[in-house]
Order: sequence, then C-alpha cells, then structure tokens
Amino acid sequence: MNIAIGINWVYIISALFFTFGLKLLGSPETARKGNILSAFGMLLAIIVTLWDQQIITYTWIVAGMLIGIVVGVLAARLISMTAMPEMVALLNGFGGIASLLVGWSVYAISPEMGIFTATSVIFSILIGGLTFSGSLTAWAKLKELMTGKPIIYVGQQVVNALILLGILGCGIMFVLGPEQGMTYFYIIIGLSLLFGVMSVLPIGGADMPVVISLLNSYSGIAACATGFVIHNNLLIVAGSLVGASGIILTNIMCKAMNRSISHVLFSGFGSATSGGVSVEGEAKSLSPQDAYYVLESAQSVVIVPGYGLAVAQAQHVVRELGELLENNGAEVRYAIHPVAGRMPGHMNVLLAEANVPYDQLIEMDDINSTMEMVDVCLVIGANDVVNPAARDDEGSPIYGMPIINVDYAKFVFVLKRSMGTGFAGIQNPLFFKENTRMIFGDAKETLTHLLTEFK
Ligand code: NDP
Repeated sequence: MNIAIGINWVYIISALFFTFGLKLLGSPETARKGNILSAFGMLLAIIVTLWDQQIITYTWIVAGMLIGIVVGVLAARLISMTAMPEMVALLNGFGGIASLLVGWSVYAISPEMGIFTATSVIFSILIGGLTFSGSLTAWAKLKELMTGKPIIYVGQQVVNALILLGILGCGIMFVLGPEQGMTYFYIIIGLSLLFGVMSVLPIGGADMPVVISLLNSYSGIAACATGFVIHNNLLIVAGSLVGASGIILTNIMCKAMNRSISHVLFSGFGSATSGGVSVEGEAKSLSPQDAYYVLESAQSVVIVPGYGLAVAQAQHVVRELGELLENNGAEVRYAIHPVAGRMPGHMNVLLAEANVPYDQLIEMDDINSTMEMVDVCLVIGANDVVNPAARDDEGSPIYGMPIINVDYAKFVFVLKRSMGTGFAGIQNPLFFKENTRMIFGDAKETLTHLLTEFK
C-alpha cells in the first residue's frame, strides 16, 4: 500500500474520532470523554501528516509545534472562565490567519493553477483574512481595549457592500489568470482584512458571543477551503465539522435570545444606553441572616446561576449550600438558561466543576412549568436571563427573549453586588417586585455567610 493511501485511511479513522467526540460533547456527562476522543483523533492526524513525503524540513515544524504547545498550555491554564469568550475569539483568529497563510504560500510557490485551485485559494485567504481581523476586533471589544458598544455610522451598509463588490471583482480577475493576478491577490487580502473589522464594528454588547460563534464557524470554512488548496482530505472534513457546528451553535444562541442572525449582525443592538424599561416600586434588601430563616423552612428551592456566579467563582460554595438545603429536607434544583453566562454551556461547565449532580440541572422550559410551586428562587449573579421585561414589556430591547420565570416563585432572593444592570445594559423590574429581596454583596461572600448560618 502506498503511503498516500495509508495516510488517507488514518485520516478516515481520525474523522471518526472527531465525529464521535462531537457527539459525546452533546451531554455534560460525556463531554470530557468526547474532548479526549477528538484530541486523540487530532494526534493521530498530526502523526501521519508528519509522515508525508512532501515535507522538506522538520526543524521549523517541530519549533512551531513546541512554541504552540507552550503558549496553548499556558493560555488554557491561566485563563479565567469569565475570559473564555476572549480566548475563543483569539483562537478563531489564529485559525483564520493560518488558512490565509497556507493559501498565500501555495500561490507564492506555484502561481500556475487551475480555476478550481485558484477559487479555493481565494476562499481560503478571503474567509481566513476576515476571520482573523474580525476575531481580533471582537477580542479587543471584549477585552475593553475599544468600546464594546456597536459602532454605527451613516452609509455603513453601503461601505460594506462596496468592499464586498471589490472583493468579488478582484476575485473574478484573479481566477481568470492567477499567474498575472498578483496585484488582485494582494488587494483581496487587504479588503478581506478590512471587511472583517468593518463587519464586527456594528455589533456589540450581549451579541458578541454570537459573533464569536459565527467567526468560529468561518474559521472552519476557511480551513475547509485550505484543505481543497493543499488537497488534504482531513482538513476538509475537520473544517466542515467546525463550520457546521459553529453555525448550529450560532443558531441555538439566536433562538435562546429570540433574535435572528441578521438582527444580530445588522441591528446595532445595545447602542442605546437605556433599555426604555420603566420600573415602579422600591427594591427591598435582606440580610443573609434573615434569608437563612426563610431558606431553612423552604421545601422547594431553585438556584438560578448567571454570569455573576462565574465572576465570584462561587460554584463550590453553591454546591455546598445545595447539599445543606437537601439535608434539611428541601428539594433543590438548578435552573439552567441556555445563554446564562457568556458562552453556551457556561453554567453547566461551572456546576460540573463543582460536582453538582447532573440530574439536578433542569432546563428552562421544564423548570418554568413548576415555578409557581417553588418556595424560594435563589438568583445568583443572573440578571438578563431572569428579567420579566423580556416577557411583559413590548418596549424592552430584550422583549421576546425566553427567561426563567423566577418572579412566579413565592420568594425570590437576588444575590448581586449592586442595582447594576446585566450584559444587555437594561433595568430589571424583578428587583422591584413584592416577592423579591435583594441580598447585596459578592455572591461567594453571601453564600459563605448563608453556609455559616446553616452550620
Ligand atoms: P448578566 O450579564 O445579565 O448579569 C450578571 C450579573 O451578575 C450582573 O448584573 C452583576 O451585577 C452580577 N455580578 C457580577 N459579579 C458578581 C459577583 N461577584 N457577585 C454577585 N453578582 C455579581 O448575566 P446573565 O447570566 O443573567 O445573562 C447573560 C447575558 O449574556 C444575557 O444578556 C445573554 O443574552 C448574554 N449572552 C450570553 C450568551 C451565552 O452563550 N451565554 C451568548 C450571547 C449573549 P452587579 O454588578 O450588581 O454585581
């Protein structure tokens, strides 16, 4: 059997590992195994690729791998859970630039190519380039190196359309004669980098994670195009998997916020500072001691985690409190909103880290149908995902987004540091309801206080 066929057989096995790995990622119980399986598939793929007869030198490859391993391990170890979207944005960007560079090097080495390869090269540098610059812009927004709000100006859509037209024109000219198409090639690189920045500028606030998921999908499509350029079947398969799963995830996030992808990309959501929600009544605060007396006699408690739980790193304390409440005879459940936190599955990962039993994690629709029977809802660092304005106020910017109906419970205790808004930047009428009590302070400190009272 010749080496090329052998390599392709191993690629098929790797692709199977990727696919099964992805399947297992669908549930928190099997996600870890899924991750390991997919990583093993990638290891196999790297090993057989290094066997390829076309490799000229191993020195640069090994040097690059070593640097990559050190940077990757350090980044994964040092990054905090709350900074995960930034990290994903950067990784997407690196995927994009890798595709651009591979496409570029293939063209630089042999500019003579057929229409199919020339088209693949264009897709590889175009999608790779816009993924790179778009991801860096998203990263800068999330890192607050620039404003996180949408940047909108008159004629924005026209400018973007002109850039796209320029790319299309140059792309056609390049494909018709790649050997003489060097100038068009460089113009496309420049325009694709510009387009990446321009298309992320009008997006901001709570829409950023959706954009990151979309850019993740683009990085996969760019890799897929690169696979066609260098005739690597596994790159085509892996790129397609990333591209498709990124689109599916983007769709899930849009659904969970009741928005369409075009609304996310073009509406400039969050550019207004106030949400237009008028609230009546007065927010009443409660001490952890008084909260303890209510919790102590509760039969049914629902814990609603949100982004603030991740900030406070209170997942272990919350699990301890859950156990104490159970020992005290209460039924304890955790209500998981699909977009609580900053990434899909953010809350599942946090609670899994603290060994909260999976069967206590209940999805939004299931918990909502039982909410009227709940004695106490403990809202921990969640805000937008429990905002009743999304359900009741047609004028609210988040109107239509499904929420956890915590206000239907007998009592709602909201653990947060201030009356500040959540990611969407809008006021929350929940805090002013008759059955709501605010317990101000860092979530971890408040929960530790409650634990002490119980003990
Ligand atoms: P929010 O961002 O709405 O609110 C988080 C709250 O946590 C803040 O109001 C803050 O209030 C509080 N908080 C912060 N630090 C602490 C702390 N140390 N202790 C206690 N409280 C703290 O979070 P949600 O999870 O409710 O909503 C997620 C948002 O992200 C939604 O708008 C969603 O649409 C958006 N989003 C999420 C995606 C996802 O995939 N998860 C995707 C796209 C968007 P204070 O400062 O007063 O303490």
